[in-house]
Amino acid sequence: MWSYQHSNFQVHQLPALNDNYIYLLEAKASHILAVIDPADASIVNQACQQLNKPLTHILNTHHHWDHTDGNKALKQRWDCIVVGAAHDAERIPCIDVKVSPEQPFQLDHLAVDILDVGGHTLGHIAYVFDDALFCGDALFGAGCGRIFEGTFEQTWQSLQRLAQLDDDTKVYCAHEYTLPNLRFARAVDANNEALKERIHRDTQTRMQQKPTIPSTIAIEKSTNPFLRPLNTDFCMQYAQKHAIDNTPLTVFRHLRQAKG
Ligand code: ZN
Ligand code: FE
Repeated sequence: MWSYQHSNFQVHQLPALNDNYIYLLEAKASHILAVIDPADASIVNQACQQLNKPLTHILNTHHHWDHTDGNKALKQRWDCIVVGAAHDAERIPCIDVKVSPEQPFQLDHLAVDILDVGGHTLGHIAYVFDDALFCGDALFGAGCGRIFEGTFEQTWQSLQRLAQLDDDTKVYCAHEYTLPNLRFARAVDANNEALKERIHRDTQTRMQQKPTIPSTIAIEKSTNPFLRPLNTDFCMQYAQKHAIDNTPLTVFRHLRQAKG
């Protein structure tokens, strides 16, 4: 378990399954202990025991099993409140509170922004607590989720929305995919100095068996190939090389298809 300090809470990061991360958000001034995307109930139970606190909430970013599999067992054990997107209410096990993007939401005293990050799935949402972003499979370290249900347009909208967050926002995504993603990034963005630095840094981090996550919005904007279309020079160069239109959406679509 790795822990990160924010002013009003701590975030605990728990590795699960092959490459998932489960997050626990532990408030400093209240009893709130919320889990984001519990892939595995037993790992969460162990962490609650270690912290010596009962679980109060489950927050799901989307309905995929590797983000919701722990819902039922955790609900039974802790009688906690399950929060998910109204759009996906029938696909999220044991949902109690149905939330919608851009509507105000509070976890006790903690204000939460709910963002629509549809694309990977239609009802995918992200939760923003102050400077902590929980984005599930919408954005990864140097990558983004596959588009299973939405359109390229919708996914590009979602990524642009995330890019508007403050630069120092910590990106707590749900998978450790960073190194393979960086190999693709290097192939399509070879002259990017920030990317070279990140490859060096994250490779060292993984050699020490530490997580490359959280990254920050600033790091993703400068190195994530699926946010690079926000940069006009990048679009021009990429479009020229592949003989496509240099609009950000066209460049994004080409990149997402090239990644496979
Ligand atoms: Zn997913
Ligand atoms: Fe996933």
